[in-house]
Amino acid sequence: MVPFLDLHAQYETIRADIDAAVARVIRDSAFIQGPELKAFERDFSLWCGRQETVGVHAGSTALMFALTAAGVGPGDEVITVPNSFIATAEAVSHVGATPVFVDVDPKTLLMDAALLEQVVTERTRAVIPVHLFGTPVPMEPICAFAEKHGLVVIEDAAQAHGAKWQGKPVGSFGQYACYSFYPGKNLGTFGEGGAVTTDDVERAAYLRKLRNHGSSEKYLHDMVGWNARMGGLQAAVLAAKLPHLDAWNASRRSHAAAYREALQSLPLTFVGVPSGAEPVHHIFAVRTPKRDELQRSLTERGIATGVHYPVPIHLQRAYAHLGKGPGSFPEAERAATEMLSLPMYAELTVAQRDEVTGAIREFFSAPVG
Ligand SMILES: *Cc1c(COP(=O)(O)O)cnc(C)c1O
Repeated sequence: MVPFLDLHAQYETIRADIDAAVARVIRDSAFIQGPELKAFERDFSLWCGRQETVGVHAGSTALMFALTAAGVGPGDEVITVPNSFIATAEAVSHVGATPVFVDVDPKTLLMDAALLEQVVTERTRAVIPVHLFGTPVPMEPICAFAEKHGLVVIEDAAQAHGAKWQGKPVGSFGQYACYSFYPGKNLGTFGEGGAVTTDDVERAAYLRKLRNHGSSEKYLHDMVGWNARMGGLQAAVLAAKLPHLDAWNASRRSHAAAYREALQSLPLTFVGVPSGAEPVHHIFAVRTPKRDELQRSLTERGIATGVHYPVPIHLQRAYAHLGKGPGSFPEAERAATEMLSLPMYAELTVAQRDEVTGAIREFFSAPVG
């Protein structure tokens, strides 16, 4: 039995710290806007090398708020990719703008910067590259394109806490970066959580008001905001986990290297990592046209896998109104039929890893038919 993810195994490694942090929040009734949130925001800013972190309710909220802070609204267009979690596009829709997709590089499945010029219009206001699976998007061509057209770059780093592009942390290239702390992310809380990071101190103050009913002083509201605060319990859990994140990411990297080594001679391909990228393997996906058969075979042996994502965003019913039918983004569409995500988390044991690779090797050497 190998689970896809084992959150409890992680908790067991840091139980005393987590329990103490949770007890502290309860003892102090520091549930909302308390010192725990301030402490986590400070720690996270230091850790990812940015001036400001604004903790919010979820990664989806972070994306929506970053777009709002960037002044993106009704009538505007935002360029992103169709092979992401739907939240990337939803955030654009929720500020009243329209997501415009470009296809991805067939090797890395990351935004293909060469296609950006084909979709830019007078209405384009922002670009959202997604560091999918924890692999950094090559940022130079995207930043150069954005600068040329006067666009804001918002990095979707929801799967990439700690990944580096040419030695610099992801999230330090665009004007804003958005993180998710959904439980299963590389840094996950016990519930929902997200954050926007930025070096713009004034925009960070705006974001803090936006998440708190437009208020920086109780019952005085300078603007129309909303309730999108990160809770104290969530922040305390994240602050307790953050010191371990580098080691967890290193462990994921060693699992990824071992998967590659054990599977390299098989008729499957790995999702490519651009040279200069230091990924954090939120997801470890392999590609094969026999994806469904392979997944079934692994399931029968008690090995859990995932598909990220089975239907690209432009083919979801929610986005049928964009009129981008099958064939619009062939690389993203082909990837959706071929990708299979293998068990990946820091606490995965060598025995579990061997069980996974052994089962895959057996699947491919089984007689055809
Ligand atoms: C998880 C995720 C989000 C949304 O984050 P939530 O915290 O679940 O709202 C956005 N973008 C990507 C790429 C994600 O993986």
